Amino acid sequence: MSLPNCDYCGSSFKWTTIFRNIWGRYKPITCVNCESENHLKSRSRVLMAVIFTISMFILGFAFASFSFEIRLLLVVLGSIFISFFIPYLIKYEV
Ligand SMILES: [Zn+2]
Repeated sequence: MSLPNCDYCGSSFKWTTIFRNIWGRYKPITCVNCESENHLKSRSRVLMAVIFTISMFILGFAFASFSFEIRLLLVVLGSIFISFFIPYLIKYEV
């Protein structure tokens, strides 16, 4: 597992940059080295959607007996927890 690199010059992005990008509507990341705009690969976008959907299903079933508020809280916390690892799984392209 490694953090994604700039597709143009190969310099690696910071984890915080990608983390913020995930929660910021997939805006392109501008490389600090070569200033090229890197877009999230459509395959990575699908992968993220699949990971989140499956996780939410598992959470939903595992805690089905809990109240709506607790499940909502778990879903929010679960999403944040999962997104800590997402930067290592996704790829960007110019
Ligand atoms: Zn670059």
